[in-house]
Amino acid sequence: MTSQAVADPAARNGGTRRIIVMMGAPGAGKGTQAERLAEALELPHISTGELFRAMLKSESPLGQKVRGYVESGGLVPDDIVVAMVEDRLDEDDAANGVILDGFPRTVAQAEALDRMLEQAGTAVSAVPYIEVAQELLLERLTGRRICTKDDQHVYHVLGMPPQKEGVCDIDGAELYQRVDDSAETVQSRLDKQLPPMFEVIDYYADNKVLFSVRGDEPAAEVTADLLQALSSKSAVA
Ligand code: AMP
Repeated sequence: MTSQAVADPAARNGGTRRIIVMMGAPGAGKGTQAERLAEALELPHISTGELFRAMLKSESPLGQKVRGYVESGGLVPDDIVVAMVEDRLDEDDAANGVILDGFPRTVAQAEALDRMLEQAGTAVSAVPYIEVAQELLLERLTGRRICTKDDQHVYHVLGMPPQKEGVCDIDGAELYQRVDDSAETVQSRLDKQLPPMFEVIDYYADNKVLFSVRGDEPAAEVTADLLQALSSKSAVA
């Protein structure tokens, strides 16, 4: 591993390409916050979960391969995820940086990301960790409902219900529950995904790019905390 170089990511980045890696348990609000940061910082939001869900919908051969993992709340094998992210990072819109959401989820993925960025002369700039108590995650995940027309429109049956039950306020489309948000799958998803996530957090803590924000506040406050921490980080860099 290239620990020497990674220990000084800001120097390698030269401040030009911002690679922001969102960390947080399923249900911590990573996706919502990644979308808000993407808008504020004018960077593309890359969600590996969304890329996989799109693959499942299109029923591509790769989609068939990953379906079992995604629907049961397990992790897709590292080589598949890494190849997908590598291709996505090569796209033109990623030239100035990206907000990564849901990747890396294992230390092997984090190391692969470091390697691919190093080849491009950059490194991870910041790793915001959205912390939410584990007791809250179950409730957040099982209550989550998503718009069938635009999956950025996310509701919660208790915390943020739509005006009309089961219908998106913004475009009137029906809401659905992700297969892996069902009560039966959520606990095993957390059991499978939290231990490797904590290893990735340790990995980034060692590399000094990690900082945490409270995720149990209203979404707008979490965004404000994230933006403030990111701007003070880039001022330091
Ligand atoms: P998410 O929308 O981030 O909760 O991701 C949905 C599902 O996609 C996860 O439960 C995994 O099955 C799969 N997935 C997404 N990102 C990764 C990743 N980095 N590594 C392995 N599996 C992933």
